Amino acid sequence: MTKQEVMALDARHYLPVFTRYPVALSRGEGPYVWDTEGKKYLDFLAGIAVNVLGHAHPHLVQAIAQQAGQMIHCSNLYYTEQQATLAARLAALSGLERVFFANSGAEANEGAIKLARKFGKAVNTDKIEIITAWESFHGRTLATLTATGQPHYQHGYEPLPAGFAYVPYNDLAALEQAMSPRTCAVMLEAIQGEGGIHVPDAGYLPAVRQLCDRYGAVLICDEVQAGMGRTGKLFAFQHWGVQPDIVTMAKGLGGGVPIGALLAREQVAQAFHPGDHGTTFGGNPLACAAAHATLDVLAQEQLPQHAAAMGEYFMAQLRGLQAKYPALIKAVRGKGLMVGVEVAGQGPDIVAAAMRRGGLINCTAGKVLRLVPPLIVRRQHVDEMVAILDAALGDLC
Ligand SMILES: *Cc1c(COP(=O)(O)O)cnc(C)c1O
Repeated sequence: MTKQEVMALDARHYLPVFTRYPVALSRGEGPYVWDTEGKKYLDFLAGIAVNVLGHAHPHLVQAIAQQAGQMIHCSNLYYTEQQATLAARLAALSGLERVFFANSGAEANEGAIKLARKFGKAVNTDKIEIITAWESFHGRTLATLTATGQPHYQHGYEPLPAGFAYVPYNDLAALEQAMSPRTCAVMLEAIQGEGGIHVPDAGYLPAVRQLCDRYGAVLICDEVQAGMGRTGKLFAFQHWGVQPDIVTMAKGLGGGVPIGALLAREQVAQAFHPGDHGTTFGGNPLACAAAHATLDVLAQEQLPQHAAAMGEYFMAQLRGLQAKYPALIKAVRGKGLMVGVEVAGQGPDIVAAAMRRGGLINCTAGKVLRLVPPLIVRRQHVDEMVAILDAALGDLC
């Protein structure tokens, strides 16, 4: 099919919810993808922080093919070795004893919200309030878009679920003021992604942990985007030495195969009883095999450490671009390979210019170029993307 044929069918039959780039992608290898016309792109969006191993990683491909031949799905009415071992593996890696598998970040967060409510209500029936941050992103279900502190995601869907409150991110005084015995959870991204790549001050998360302890509230850390080694540690909260009560994962967990996870401390997890929560697909053997394979490569190739080193190199190069284009680039920030470049304007034009020059990135929060490449990228790929961005910025001058 030609790109035009694909675009015409999509325009007629797909729900009109996405503003897509006029590109139809057909295959990928490592950090590169090719479109239907054979044009090659360097992929520094990685399916929005999903393809942590890049495209077509042999170990992941082999594990998926092998598992598909053995069994794709069987229902959570039965045990599978793949799911039990993945739960044990994530428990060991996170220090949180209990795991539930979903299919996406929104579903993992929906489960976290439900668990926090049940846990809070067992203490006191009005201990139900969940505090989240402005500019956060937690998903598109009704509860998770309510948790998301960006009103434009909520407009049109009212009435929204009750019991959510919002505070500015990285502002301890505001959080302290918002907390009360009614607070059952504080839900935060350790590094905000969709909201524009915001890294908190060093003391923020440890102090949030203390506030949660003081009020008997659970700390939910949404690691859907920042987790899986992207920031230089398997979980972003590990940079600050805090231990959340509940952690959610998705995006990179299956290396591209849909899987989400909710991890919880034993005592909190005990608030759920048989029948309290569930899923048809979540944690099926195919998804669990993909997550195992992704975690294998993460460990074998020491990708978190590699992401830390590449991220430092990448941000140094981007600061070089900032010096060259001071009127266009306002800030470079991030951790590891979760990088944001705040621009003075024309974010979507820069994305389009980069695409013309063979680079895939996106623009979030209206003005922040989001650079979340596969964790397997090497210096040569970083240099190639910096050259693409240099040329793209030059196009706009
Ligand atoms: C992408 C994202 C989600 C939602 O994940 P989906 O898989 O799209 O439902 C939730 N939280 C964060 C931090 C995200 O980046």
